[in-house]
Amino acid sequence: MVGKVLAFCETRNGELRQVSFEAISAAKKLSNGGEVVAAILGTNVSNFIETLYHYGADRVVTVENEVLNQYTTDAYQQALLQVIEDEKPDGFIMGHTAIGKDVSPRIAAKIQAGLISDIVNIEANGEKVVCTRPIYSGKAFEKKKFTDGFQFITIRPNNIKQLEKDESRTGTASSLDVEIKNIRTVIKEVVQKTAGKVDLSEAKIIVAGGRGVKGEEGFELLQSLADLLGGAVGASRGACDSGYCDYSLQIGQTGKVVTPDLYFAFGISGAIQHIAGMSNSKVIVAVNKDPEAPIFDIADYGIVGDLFEVIPLLKEEIKQN
Ligand code: FAD
Repeated sequence: MVGKVLAFCETRNGELRQVSFEAISAAKKLSNGGEVVAAILGTNVSNFIETLYHYGADRVVTVENEVLNQYTTDAYQQALLQVIEDEKPDGFIMGHTAIGKDVSPRIAAKIQAGLISDIVNIEANGEKVVCTRPIYSGKAFEKKKFTDGFQFITIRPNNIKQLEKDESRTGTASSLDVEIKNIRTVIKEVVQKTAGKVDLSEAKIIVAGGRGVKGEEGFELLQSLADLLGGAVGASRGACDSGYCDYSLQIGQTGKVVTPDLYFAFGISGAIQHIAGMSNSKVIVAVNKDPEAPIFDIADYGIVGDLFEVIPLLKEEIKQN
């Protein structure tokens, strides 16, 4: 496709999320030499314009509105529909994040567009656009293409490579006033359980623990390793159910789906429901006392041993290098 592609750029706690840069990169591929327009919503979002140019946006549309500071389905749906109506793009890309999962099917239904969701790769060559998405909890991949019309895609975070930052890149910007009415839900309070920590869904390194970690103290040990590596701590449902950590850390079929560069599984057996959330990680390292644990079937590197002995050794080694 050669045309104009809109990339929705998400912010969280006043910062651009990495998936925004990945959306721009995917939009660049899809537009095939056309125009990439980054759309960003909230207040003071014009502060991000330059950064969005540096990561590949040709143009930035800002929608400044206090109501958009926090995500609500009604407000974001209305705002994004108005951006689409105003810009009339040929394609639209957003992250397959909590926001993307919630709002994209609603927008697709409203504008009667086909939606290919949760893609991990996009090949665009002229008219031919092929999207790859995992199915059956990551056990297989399917390739999908649009037969015609508006091309609406959500991308799984951490899979599409963002463009190299180029500070000489520049572009143009415009702002759009939107009318938002009849919001049916109001956010009264946000309680951040993992404030200040690396965001699990965007982390490049995840140190995950299961029931084998045995308690909250074990999770503190995992956190100390994650801090050394600049990574995030994740967990199996077994660990969450046992009360060792918060459910916000749960990875798997009923938790978060993650694709880090490096995934450590400490004391996790490798149940199918856990694997569904992490099997597409680029490198998997499993540490388990049981040599028969199924996690070893998908691990790139496996250590049969006690995690309470292995983690201190790993930390020592990392500190020395
Ligand atoms: P266990 O299976 O108990 O494994 C603990 C492992 O730790 C064992 O392999 C043991 O050998 C090892 N171990 C013990 N001590 C040590 C030590 N000192 N050093 C090294 N290794 C040690 N699970 C998820 O994770 N995510 C989900 O999203 C999810 N969704 C589910 C949805 C449904 C509908 C259902 C039915 C289940 C779901 N589950 C999910 C649960 C899943 O089936 C497993 O029960 C769960 O993943 C097991 O967690 P675990 O591996 O931590 O615990």
